[in-house]
Parts: sequence; C-alpha cells; structure tokens
Amino acid sequence: MFKHDKLNLFLFLVLVGLQVLGLVALWTQFQWTYLPIMLGIYFWIGISTTLYLHRYLTHRGFEMPGWLKFIFATGSAVALSGDPVTWVGDHRYHHLKSDTDEDIHSPVHGFPYAHMMWLVRKPPGFRDRSLRYAADVRKIWYCRLWERPAFYVLPHLGMAALLYFTLGGVGLLWCLYVPMLVVYNFTWAVNSVCHMPSLGYRNFETTDHSKNNFWIGLGAFGEGYHNNHHAKPRCAAHGLRWWEFDLTRYIIWTLEKCGLAWDVVWPKPNEETAIDTVTEDQAGALLLFGAQIRDPRLDTKHEKTDRRQ
Ligand SMILES: [Zn+2]
Ligand SMILES: [Zn+2]
Repeated sequence: MFKHDKLNLFLFLVLVGLQVLGLVALWTQFQWTYLPIMLGIYFWIGISTTLYLHRYLTHRGFEMPGWLKFIFATGSAVALSGDPVTWVGDHRYHHLKSDTDEDIHSPVHGFPYAHMMWLVRKPPGFRDRSLRYAADVRKIWYCRLWERPAFYVLPHLGMAALLYFTLGGVGLLWCLYVPMLVVYNFTWAVNSVCHMPSLGYRNFETTDHSKNNFWIGLGAFGEGYHNNHHAKPRCAAHGLRWWEFDLTRYIIWTLEKCGLAWDVVWPKPNEETAIDTVTEDQAGALLLFGAQIRDPRLDTKHEKTDRRQ
C-alpha cells in the first residue's frame, strides 16, 4: 500500500492550484462567445486522454496515422494529463494489480487516495516501473521528450498564452481551466467511482471491483463502462451494449470508416448480444441508478462477488 508514502507537496499544490483556477472562473463574467472554444478544448483534451493515452497508447486497441497521434498527444499535454510514459506505466500496473494492496489507485485505500491523492503520494520506485512497463512508449520521440517537465509544460503554456492574449484572463479561465477541472475529475472518477463496490453495475465477473457507471461514462467519453474494460482491456469499445453510450467508441468507428484508424480490436458480435439480456426499461434504470435497481442476473453475480470479498 502506497497511501502513506511521502507527499509530493509541489505536485499537490500544482494540482490543487490548476483546479482552483477552474473554480475561480465561476465568480467571473461568462460570455457566450467562450462556449464553442470551451467545448472544443474540453472535447480535444478529453478525447486525447481516452482515445489516445488510454485506448491507443496503453492498450493498443487500434492503429492510426502519426500526425493524428501527435494531435491527440499534444491535447493531453495541453491539459497536463500526465506525461505519456508515466501515464501508461501507471495504468498498465493498475490493470495488473487492480484492487489489491499493490494497486496504485484503488478505493480499498480510501476514496481521496483513489481519486487524486495517489498522484501525489507515488513512491519513487514507480518511475523505474513506468520505464519498464511503458518501454514501447519511450520509443516515441515526443513521449520521451515530455518525460522532462520543462518540455512537457510547453504545450500547456503555449495554449494558455494564446487564450490570454486573445480572450484575456477571464477567457483563459473559462476556456482552459474549467475544461481541465472537468476532465481531471471525470478521469480520476474512473479510478475512484468506477471501483466502488456500491456504485454502478457489472456485466462481467472480473477479479477486481470495477463497475460500469453511466454518469462517469457521459463525462469521460465512455470510460465509465469500466467493468467492461477490465474484462476486455484491449477492446477499443468500453460500452458494449447498444445503450451503453461510449463517445470514444463512436469516434474510433468514424475514424475507421474514414480510413484514419485500422486494426481496431472490436468486440466480437456474440460478446455484445450475449450479455444483453435486460429489457430497455431495465437498461434505463441500470444506467441512471446503477446498482440500486438491478437486473436479477447481475444481482446474483453482484452478491457472489460481495461474498468473495
Ligand atoms: Zn480500473
Ligand atoms: Zn485500461
């Protein structure tokens, strides 16, 4: 357990400070002209995390052209989502040790730790671990370059300067730091909320506590179907049933149709229909209320899982 490792005070202040900038915006005058820019940046930095860092770089669920990878990689750096080598190393380790004592971010060590505090209490050994677990990522020149903080912050500073000089300080807060606040917390909620035994539902009896959560899926572009993802880590789709809304999946599908994504690891047709035994009404209840209204079949599995814990 790493919960009691030394606090990285500098990183803690940076992460809190970035979120405070997003909150400060709420006390300033919003202008409707900010909205398209804000949504555009939210979409770019959000999809850069889900489609690029997670489904492409960590799990290699598909291939895409080099220029497109660079656009998404830059989006993740603009949001300061974490340098790709570290991000991939940490996440691969999470899949290996999910909800055990060695998991780097599990709510079994407490919700705040799983949500954000794991980032600032990481033991020094994790750096070496990332170098080994993400050795393939280090072969990409810009990912290797961004291992150095001085280079990693450049896309963020560039975007911040651009927004400041075109829209002013208030525009900068609304268009960059509000989207970052939202993306951070939805991404972190995949680690915290989607591993809480009481929130969400399960399609698969995985050995961890992962859950599917519609609300997290909505804000995190489909990443909330985390139990599906733990059951099929390489699959480019996290939402497997037709009603599990997974925006990242639809974007990968569109890219594939446009010839911009290939070798996509899609679920096999029977994998999607085999689990879909719930009616449309039950589907709505599962999505909105998660574990509170359950499909009896899922209920039995849920209890079995609880008994094992
Ligand atoms: Zn997980
Ligand atoms: Zn994953």
